Amino acid sequence: MKLTFMGTAGARFMVAKQLAASGGMYLEDGATRISLDPGPGAIVQYAKRKVDLTKLDAIVISHRHLDHSGDVNVMVEAMTDGGFKHRGRLYCPSDALDEDPVVLNYLRRFPEEIIRLEPDTSYSVNGTTFTTSPQHIHQSETYGFRFGDRLGWVTDSKYYDGIAEQHKAEVMVIHTVLMQCRDELPHLCLDDVARIIRDAKPRLAILTHFGMTVWRAHPWELAADLTQKLGIEVKAARDGMSVEL
Ligand SMILES: [Zn+2]
Repeated sequence: MKLTFMGTAGARFMVAKQLAASGGMYLEDGATRISLDPGPGAIVQYAKRKVDLTKLDAIVISHRHLDHSGDVNVMVEAMTDGGFKHRGRLYCPSDALDEDPVVLNYLRRFPEEIIRLEPDTSYSVNGTTFTTSPQHIHQSETYGFRFGDRLGWVTDSKYYDGIAEQHKAEVMVIHTVLMQCRDELPHLCLDDVARIIRDAKPRLAILTHFGMTVWRAHPWELAADLTQKLGIEVKAARDGMSVEL
């Protein structure tokens, strides 16, 4: 299994200024190819790395916020070869499709299937299985994911009891938006991230989806500090970085 970071920016200011790219992640597992959270500019990041999007099996959206779904429409068109090939699947929460939808109506018939994500449910794409977490604490319907025991993906959420256990895997990718915890913002801060890593004890934790305060504090330095403090390898993702899982 190979994971490539098509972007490491999270939240509005980082995305608006493109201080880092915001294309989400690309997962390759044997012959299976999945685009995770294709945010604004994802199409550019995939093209830059010469990924043939007509071979994509699925697009997975953790939640409808723009930094996670901005390029979902163009990615659906790319996956379906402009809508001419009825293929591929789109997985997203219901609210990405209903009120103020982020998936345009005209292209909903292009993929083979559009699946509404449910909490604590397993899905299989071309032999690759992933499982949703219970619903996160966020401003819209949001899920985290596990790909078996290999990969846990902690997407946007306020910290809650059980979050570490629910995403526990050998490698864990954690959205690190805030330096300081802020009650009014339902996002993980650095202390929350440290707590999750300490509780779940992955072989490797990768920080990504950096908000502005985290970016200014240099994520790679924060990761090095955490590695020392926790005795667990913590890395900061970089745009274009690939990891073999
Ligand atoms: Zn969000």
